[in-house]
Amino acid sequence: MAEIRTYHVPTHPGASSVQVSRRMSTARRKDTAAEMALRRELHRRGLRYRVTVKVPDRPRRTIDIAFTRRKVAVFVDGCFWHGCPEHGTDPASNAAWWQTKLEANKLRDADTTHHLESLGWRVVRVWEHEDPVAAATNIGQIVRTLAGSPTDLPADVGAVR
Ligand SMILES: [Zn+2]
Repeated sequence: MAEIRTYHVPTHPGASSVQVSRRMSTARRKDTAAEMALRRELHRRGLRYRVTVKVPDRPRRTIDIAFTRRKVAVFVDGCFWHGCPEHGTDPASNAAWWQTKLEANKLRDADTTHHLESLGWRVVRVWEHEDPVAAATNIGQIVRTLAGSPTDLPADVGAVR
């Protein structure tokens, strides 16, 4: 079933090119699609998680996919917004503004990761271009390892159907 949504493009200084605006909305759409694909794969593996969990002490920041008991935080990072080394090229238009903006995003990501780790969380960052099946397998292994032995029924790991 196809979902039809509109995406709000935030304003930025100067006249933006159509290409950049299109790239922004595409980046957001892919970001969401990548997260949904990963969530589907995790669910399929019997893993139960919460979404959009608040990061402690960091207002307005959220963990995309959180295993709260095991303290595993998963972020699905859009290639454009988070500066993926393969796809996160700098737009030519408004170069200075964009560079500042994207650099700030990267610094914020690093701060979020560091902060959560200092609180005992294991942080997993997945690029939107990564294979959701492989990512889900990796995350499943981390969660199950942290959950201990198979006889210790982990709260975050539901029954496999
Ligand atoms: Zn990428």
